Amino acid sequence: GNAWEIARPEETVEVKFGGEVYTDWVDGKFTCRYNNSHTILAMPYDVPLCGYDSKIVNKLRLWSSKSPDHMNMQEFNSGNYVRAVEEKELAEVISKVLYPEDNHTEGKELRLKQQYFLVSATLQWILKEFENRNGQDWSKLPDKVVIHINDTHPTMAIPEMMRLLMDEKGLGWDEAWDIVTHVFAYTNHTVMSEALEKWPLDMFRKILPRVYMIVEEMNRRLMIRLNEVYPNDSAKHKYMAIISDNQIFMANMCLASCFAVNGVSKLHTDILKQDIFADYYNMNNDHFYAITNGITFRRWIANCNPELTELISSKIGKNWIKDASELSKLKKYAKDPAFKKQFAEIKRNNKVRLAQYIKEHNDIVVNPDSIFDVQCKRLHEYKRQMMNVLHILAEYNRIIEDNVYAENYYPKTYIFGAKAAPGYKRAKLIIKLINSVGDMINNDPRVKDKIKVVFLENYSVSIAEKLIIAADISEQISTAGKEASGTGNMKFMLNGALTIGTLDGANVEMLEQVGEDNIYI
Ligand SMILES: *Cc1c(COP(=O)(O)O)cnc(C)c1O
Repeated sequence: GNAWEIARPEETVEVKFGGEVYTDWVDGKFTCRYNNSHTILAMPYDVPLCGYDSKIVNKLRLWSSKSPDHMNMQEFNSGNYVRAVEEKELAEVISKVLYPEDNHTEGKELRLKQQYFLVSATLQWILKEFENRNGQDWSKLPDKVVIHINDTHPTMAIPEMMRLLMDEKGLGWDEAWDIVTHVFAYTNHTVMSEALEKWPLDMFRKILPRVYMIVEEMNRRLMIRLNEVYPNDSAKHKYMAIISDNQIFMANMCLASCFAVNGVSKLHTDILKQDIFADYYNMNNDHFYAITNGITFRRWIANCNPELTELISSKIGKNWIKDASELSKLKKYAKDPAFKKQFAEIKRNNKVRLAQYIKEHNDIVVNPDSIFDVQCKRLHEYKRQMMNVLHILAEYNRIIEDNVYAENYYPKTYIFGAKAAPGYKRAKLIIKLINSVGDMINNDPRVKDKIKVVFLENYSVSIAEKLIIAADISEQISTAGKEASGTGNMKFMLNGALTIGTLDGANVEMLEQVGEDNIYI
């Protein structure tokens, strides 16, 4: 296995799915009994994580799903081989693979089980840790614990926390709700409707009957509140509801429960306030914050671009690696010819290394003295790789048809890195298109030494690290309003590429920082 994953079998917890729930009041106490539910074990694996030049080691806790039953030997002995291993397989599939969808949700049963599995195991652990350190005064939980709902995927933590506090710890609804509404903070990552999670009510109720009861009660109380704030506005109530049209809306569950809500750039937060979450913003405007995404300079310069790191440190010392604001000390070298020459050499060295990688992986020879024009990011229609390809075709046609244009054309290498979810057919077709255009252009002697097109497969952080440090031009051309933030844009800028982009997401704030001579809108 992985030497950095430390198994903690003694901290295994149970997660229950399905069955029927029976609630009752016994001696004035609420009780909850499950029948025919299915238990799956969650086993923690801890990964120690230390920061740069720090004495602190944090713990990343990962969960593995396991069946409580070993292979059923009785079934096996009676010849039913498939049944004998089926239960075990079904339990373990929960933590087997991650859905590869990007800004899209499909509402699949396994995905719902995965979300609840991770949420329930983690909350049980958090409550246990709190109890070990602070005892059972649950009202102190918000002083010690903040839970970040990072996109809607872990939203079920909200009703699950209600369930644990009420059913396991014996709190009443109002006490539990007061705690829950001071513990959770929600970050929204997109305004695209196909990405906003919603679950079919029947599926949710079947898989999580007790959590569903709690969600229903949350929605009932929300409706009472909404009717006070927006009397008789049934369209608004429906838009803001947790449950409507036999579906459960996870973003609304967050908006109705969290003490803080944020977007991931200034522009994106404004769109949340003025547009998709405006009704919640009017009701709770002190809950909304703009928190612009950032990247780690230690990976995206210090680790991936050692020569540039060395050059920077030789001028301003090493402290910028801990305090990025110190990079502004480089300003005085902006016009220094020796510095500029060294910088250009480093960029060229990175381009030579990338050219070698491209030769090895794509068997295409590219010229390191051509302009490297790079678009690497998940493949998505709103990111407009398609528009980039059409532009390449236009340049290719013009080189062939227009001699004056061809003579003045500075050689260019267009490089793409992208991957898409298997079911996203149009994205796959765009990948096919980029490869086909590349095959045509790279083999056309009329544009030889002028233009090349490369598509790198299996886009990943490791490939991004090689690509970004070798880029002259950074393509950030999303459909305006659709890219909530973007972080690729920042990585390229850090490594000295010029940006071509729409005024969208964090490009807006980057323009404010770097000025119009470094980013072309
Ligand atoms: C930074 C990064 C992204 C995000 O890039 P955007 O241009 O902001 O979409 C995606 N994938 C990988 C591997 C990255 O390193």
